[in-house]
Amino acid sequence: MFCHSNLFHKVGLLHTRNNTWRNTKHCKLKHFLLRCSSVQFDQRLYSELLLVKQWLEKSPKVVNSLQNGTWVKLICGASYQDLPFIRNLSFLFALAGVDCIDCAADSAVVRSVDQGIVGALAYANRFRIPLKRPLIMVSINDDEDPHFRKASFDTSHCPPDCSKPCERVCPASAIALQSDENGFLIPFHQGVIQNKCYGCGRCVPVCPVQNIETTSFSSCHGSVIDSLLESEPIDAIEIHSRAESIQQFKQLWDSIGPSFETRLSLVSISFPDGGEYLEEFLRTVERIIVKESTKYQVIWQADGKPMSGDIGRGTTMATVKLAKKVLSLRLRGYVQCAGGVNDYTISVLNELELRPRKEKVDTGNSVAGIAFGSFARRRLIELLQRNSFDDTMNVENSSCFEQAWNFVFHLVKPIKQG
Ligand code: SF4
Ligand code: SF4
Repeated sequence: MFCHSNLFHKVGLLHTRNNTWRNTKHCKLKHFLLRCSSVQFDQRLYSELLLVKQWLEKSPKVVNSLQNGTWVKLICGASYQDLPFIRNLSFLFALAGVDCIDCAADSAVVRSVDQGIVGALAYANRFRIPLKRPLIMVSINDDEDPHFRKASFDTSHCPPDCSKPCERVCPASAIALQSDENGFLIPFHQGVIQNKCYGCGRCVPVCPVQNIETTSFSSCHGSVIDSLLESEPIDAIEIHSRAESIQQFKQLWDSIGPSFETRLSLVSISFPDGGEYLEEFLRTVERIIVKESTKYQVIWQADGKPMSGDIGRGTTMATVKLAKKVLSLRLRGYVQCAGGVNDYTISVLNELELRPRKEKVDTGNSVAGIAFGSFARRRLIELLQRNSFDDTMNVENSSCFEQAWNFVFHLVKPIKQG
């Protein structure tokens, strides 16, 4: 009979979490108990990875996940650049078998995602479990968009008695202010740790002296995208657009769209609810990007309430409502929820019968999948940033790995199980 614990010895996963204990009776007991809990976790991890393997076998290609309604994407953030965190996020979600990892159109960020994926494939391989490599997607914009901006402020303009609400509301720990002995803020360049800011804008309205501003940027310069696609392992692209910027979308597509045909396996269009202009906008975009000869898959990303999934369960309703609207248009391609997605989303989709049923697959009437962004990031930021995996992705030495894995696995499982 196959014995898990032998396997774990073999792959070197049986380990103690603290090698400084003395050889006393008490320490021996403590050591034994920790060893047991470690073995238990390793055994559970192994059986969970077997489940991941089954999910991947059911959907060997990207299109299978989209058709089955089991597509899962991790959103690292279109302007988020915290490289160690992005690498660890990518490691965890790749290990959980997600289909795609979406990140900023930035070489260093793409490489961090790739490192996380490579680490996950190697780690699973130690259990003799082959993982599928998720697609790497980069996000670009055709016009001003909240996903593509950074907040900043001058700390010398902050009143010394300010209770720093900006710091409390920031979901990305991008504001970490320190005061001197007189209560004055220690000057900090731009007030915000720029690579951790993903532009949610929550800090702006809470500042009592309107000291915080945001600066938008564009990532759509054709030559930059071209060289990025040339030099980095990118499989998919997402264009953030909206009803008001259809002209800018056309210009962007004219400059870079044709090269996607040969280079990419997937193009995603992310958009908020454009109200009465939504249908015209989406039909125009459909005419531009979907031709008879088109080989890439197309995803319509219903960005209900951008960057809000961590605020509360209710944010889910905005993306579900928008996804329903888009489904009714019967566009060519797949509809995916984002912007307000959290651990509640899948049960809402099930309740509203918006997921493919096993006995009757009708992709035209079902949501193909969901994308986790701020909900997943916020929960993991605390866990991973305090105790990040080291550079060799040595998860055994990371006391947070077990908690982080539990969170990620149970987030992905309800979707992947169909
Ligand atoms: S609250 Fe949002 S916009 Fe403000 S610093 Fe944090 S991540 Fe950036
Ligand atoms: S809330 Fe405004 S004034 Fe207060 S610390 Fe933050 S930026 Fe400064």
